[in-house]
Amino acid sequence: MNPLYRNDRQGQLPDSWYAASAEIAPDRPTLKGAVTADVCIVGAGYTGLSAARHLADKGLDVVVVDAHRVGFGASGRNGGQVCSGYNMSMRKMAERYGADHARHLWDLAEEAKADVRALCAQHIPEARFRNGIAEAAARPGEVADLHADANFLRHTFDHDAVRTLDRAEINALIKTDDYFGGHLDESAGHIHPLRYVFGLARLAEAAGARIFERSEVHHIVHGDPAVLRTGKGQIRANHVILAGNGYLPSIVPKVSAKILPVNSFIAATEPLGARAAQVLTQDIAVSDSKFVLNYYRLSEDNRLLFGGRPSYQIAFPKDIKTKLSARIAQMFPQLDGVRVDYAWGGTLGITINKLPAVQRIAPNVVSASGYSGHGVALSGLAGKVMAEAIAGQAGRFDTLAALEIPNFPGGTAFRAPILRLAMTWYAMRDRLAV
Ligand SMILES: Cc1cc2nc3c(=O)[nH]c(=O)nc-3n(C[C@H](O)[C@H](O)[C@H](O)COP(=O)(O)OP(=O)(O)OC[C@H]3O[C@@H](n4cnc5c(N)ncnc54)[C@H](O)[C@@H]3O)c2cc1C
Repeated sequence: MNPLYRNDRQGQLPDSWYAASAEIAPDRPTLKGAVTADVCIVGAGYTGLSAARHLADKGLDVVVVDAHRVGFGASGRNGGQVCSGYNMSMRKMAERYGADHARHLWDLAEEAKADVRALCAQHIPEARFRNGIAEAAARPGEVADLHADANFLRHTFDHDAVRTLDRAEINALIKTDDYFGGHLDESAGHIHPLRYVFGLARLAEAAGARIFERSEVHHIVHGDPAVLRTGKGQIRANHVILAGNGYLPSIVPKVSAKILPVNSFIAATEPLGARAAQVLTQDIAVSDSKFVLNYYRLSEDNRLLFGGRPSYQIAFPKDIKTKLSARIAQMFPQLDGVRVDYAWGGTLGITINKLPAVQRIAPNVVSASGYSGHGVALSGLAGKVMAEAIAGQAGRFDTLAALEIPNFPGGTAFRAPILRLAMTWYAMRDRLAV
C-alpha cells in the first residue's frame, strides 16, 4: 500500500470541518473487470476532474479512477486559498524566463483564478467564493520585497487589484503583532475546497465522464493503447493523464523524481461568534512569509481555519490539534481558551523550485502536479491544458511544460531527509526572527 494512505482510513474522507459541512455524494462504483476508454485519468482531485470535464465536453470517452474517493486528496482538505500567480514572485519569473514568457505565464494563472471564480458563480455556488488574500511580512526586512512584488504586478501587468499595506494597515486587518506590512490582492480569494471538488465531479459526470472510486492504479503498461491495472480491473486507454499529485506512488519514476510529498495541517476552532473580529476584520484569507508558513481565514460559521506546520515525514504527528492550538495561541493570545473542534492533515506535491511540473511522460501520457501550495487555482488550468493537448492543441501545455523543473537531489530515498534538515534550519530562523 502507498505509505501515505496510512494516515487515513482507506476509502474515507478525513474528519475535517469540510467533511462535516459538505453534502457527501453517495459512493461511486469500484472498477471491476476490463473497460476501454479514449482517456484514463488517474486521480479524482481538481486536476483530474477538470481534465475529465474538458475532455468529455469535447466528446471523448473518459474514465477517472481514484484510489479512494472524489476529493480524498489535497483537493478535499486544503486551505481553500485561490491564489494569484505561482509560488514564485512574477518579478523573479520575469528575471528568470524573460518578460514575454512571464507575461504568458501570468495570463495563464489569471485564467486559472477566473475559471474557479466563474465555476463557483455559475455551477458551484455552495463553494462560496470570497474575495481577498493578504500576504503578510513576518520580518521588517520582507516588507520592501512584498511591496516591490505588488508594484511590479500593478505596473507590468496592470493588476490593480493588489495594493500594498503598511504596518498600521495590516494590523487593522489582522489582529496580531506579528506582521510588519504586506499586500492585499482582492482578485484572489477563498472557497470551501471539498464542496468545490464535489461540484467538479458533478460537472464531469454531467458531461459524460465515468468515475470509479476505491480503484487504485498499481501498474501501467505503456503502449498504444496503454493498460492500467487496478486491484479488480483494468483500463485500456488511448491516452493517460496522471493527476495523483502528492499521493501518486512511485509507479511513474519521471513524475516522482520531480515531486516531493509534503504534509500540511489545518485546525478548525469552535465558532468564534463576535470574537471572529478579534482575528480578522474582513472576510479575507491570509498567508504569511514565515518559512514554516501559516495560512488562515474564517469559515462561514466564524471558525478560525488555521493551517501550517508542514512536515516531510510520511506519518502525520499524533498531536496535530495541540501543535496547531499552540500556534494559534502564540499569534492570537486574545483567543486564549478557544476550543479546537477539528484538526486534520493532507499531502500536497511540491517541486524543487515551487513551479508546477507539467510533463509529457510518453507520447500518449501526460502529467501535471507539484503546484507547491498554489494548486487550488492552477490545477484546474493544468487539467484544461492537458485536455487541449490530447485534443491536438498543445500550445498552452507546451508553455507550462517549458518551465524547467529539476529532479530532487538524493533520489526518492534521500530527498526527504535533506529537506527535513533544511526545514529545521528555516524553522529555527522563524523562531529567532532572523
Ligand atoms: C493541508 C493543505 C492545504 C493546502 N492549502 C492550499 C491553499 O490554500 N491554496 C492552494 O492553492 N493550494 C493548497 N494546497 C494544495 C492543493 O490542495 C493542491 O495543489 C491541489 O488540491 C492538487 O489537486 P490534484 O487534483 O492535483 O491532487 P489531489 O487533490 O491530491 O488528488 C490526487 C488524487 O489522486 C489519487 N491517486 C493518487 N495515486 C493514485 C493511483 N495510483 N491510483 C488511483 N488514484 C490515485 C489520490 O487518492 C487523490 O485523491 C493545500 C494542500 C494541503 C494538503
